[in-house]
Amino acid sequence: MSQRTKIKALLQSQQTEIDVTVKGWVRAFRSNRFIALNDGSTNNNIQVVVDFENTDPALLKRITVGAALSVQGKLIASLGKGQTVEVVANEIEILGDSDPEKYPIQPKKHSLEFLRENAHLRFRTSTFGAIFRVRNSLAFAVHQFFQERGFVYLHTPVITASDAEGAGETFHVTNFDLDNIPKTDTGEIDFKQDFFGRATNLTVSGQLEGELGAMALSDIYTFGPTFRAENSNTTRHLAEFWMIEPEVAFNDLVDNMDLAEDMLKYVIKYALDKNADDIEFLTQRLTEEEKTKPQNERSEMTLLEKLQFCLNNDFERLTYTEAIDILKESTPNKKKKFVYPVEGWGTDLQSEHERYLVEKHFKKPVILTDYPKEIKAFYMRQNDDGKTVRAMDILFPGIGEIVGGSQREERLDKLEQRMNEMGIPTEELWWYLDTRRFGSCPHAGFGLGFERLVLFVTGMGNIRDVIPFPRFPKNAEF
Ligand code: ATP
Ligand code: MN
Repeated sequence: MSQRTKIKALLQSQQTEIDVTVKGWVRAFRSNRFIALNDGSTNNNIQVVVDFENTDPALLKRITVGAALSVQGKLIASLGKGQTVEVVANEIEILGDSDPEKYPIQPKKHSLEFLRENAHLRFRTSTFGAIFRVRNSLAFAVHQFFQERGFVYLHTPVITASDAEGAGETFHVTNFDLDNIPKTDTGEIDFKQDFFGRATNLTVSGQLEGELGAMALSDIYTFGPTFRAENSNTTRHLAEFWMIEPEVAFNDLVDNMDLAEDMLKYVIKYALDKNADDIEFLTQRLTEEEKTKPQNERSEMTLLEKLQFCLNNDFERLTYTEAIDILKESTPNKKKKFVYPVEGWGTDLQSEHERYLVEKHFKKPVILTDYPKEIKAFYMRQNDDGKTVRAMDILFPGIGEIVGGSQREERLDKLEQRMNEMGIPTEELWWYLDTRRFGSCPHAGFGLGFERLVLFVTGMGNIRDVIPFPRFPKNAEF
């Protein structure tokens, strides 16, 4: 009999005095009588009551934290505090023992660093159970949002010969024998002999291929893994992360901002509705964590309030130029409180500047547009001022940049001219330029870093804690 009822369903059951089978892992066992059992369907445990006087002591000994159990018994209304129902066990089967001396996850508070080193087992904690259920809902909601609007989910290649941004932070893909790499007469690596007959790498963005799809299917999105060999050991960067990249023909920058704002609100609302318990738990977790910080560093809102606030307010939209003026006039700049003084027009904003705008000045998500062309990619549409491009970055509290996007340059001559100025080989991107040669049209899109979204919704502080097995410099364990 393998029939089992999920713990989430049992806890919501309107019926009692029924026979049930429940399976899960022991979170705690106290007084030789009360097992807290969890199967990951919810953060809440079901209490299993053991008739210890009539249970084999050898079996009782094997009910340890981390052990996998199958329990047959009766679901009854609970008289105890903290739960409405519980299971009175008739029969307990130990499916898998867990040596309490060796099992790393004890029923106490572990540091997030310790749990990262035990990422294979951290799913069994309340915090990580909640994070990965929320992550799942967000991923599903992304698809639902686009599917409801008639977008086509396009799979762009993971292996590519182009480096979309020209930033050079790519991982090479090769099947050369690394001890014996073929060289040309002039001593260079002979990629002609490599698997693909040319140098290839893991993708840093699906955008360029996404644009090709949009120029026929009109509304597409990608949702796939992305790789960047950036050596930035930050709490916001991973070497392998998931990116969502919609691309829409006939959209301009305003449409693009509307789409991004609608999408973010939709998926956050979905998680709030679907994962109310988990977000409640994560809200308490964050509030506890904040208590360890000095008063002036604590956030004014709880996680739940932050999420609701984000849903109930329009994102603030302003140009990069306006933002620079605000920053120059800001108190921290005048009092020289920024680590990096605001340099003036033309330079990229530091994350402390972005956070000032979002967290202190506007106190809500901000969309900055029309950045100087020098600090943005070649494919962004050039404005008539000759200095700025139709870029947009969405900045979120506690996160900084969560979305980067733009209206694309659809004019062949302007695009080629910019590529030449920036030293981007037009011959290699012949296929990209073909869309501008044949039936070009205005279009726009953006990239949302999925883990940064999960960071925001879970209130976690480190991006390594919102992906099951994080990849970062000097780490590829699991
Ligand atoms: P940042 O300035 O934060 O490094 P970026 O300008 O390199 O971001 P884009 O190239 O515009 O970012 O990528 C689009 C989105 O992908 C970003 O807005 C961000 O949400 C996400 N992203 C970029 N790099 C990473 C990374 N290394 N790890 C996780 N997410 C990332
Ligand atoms: Mn970057």
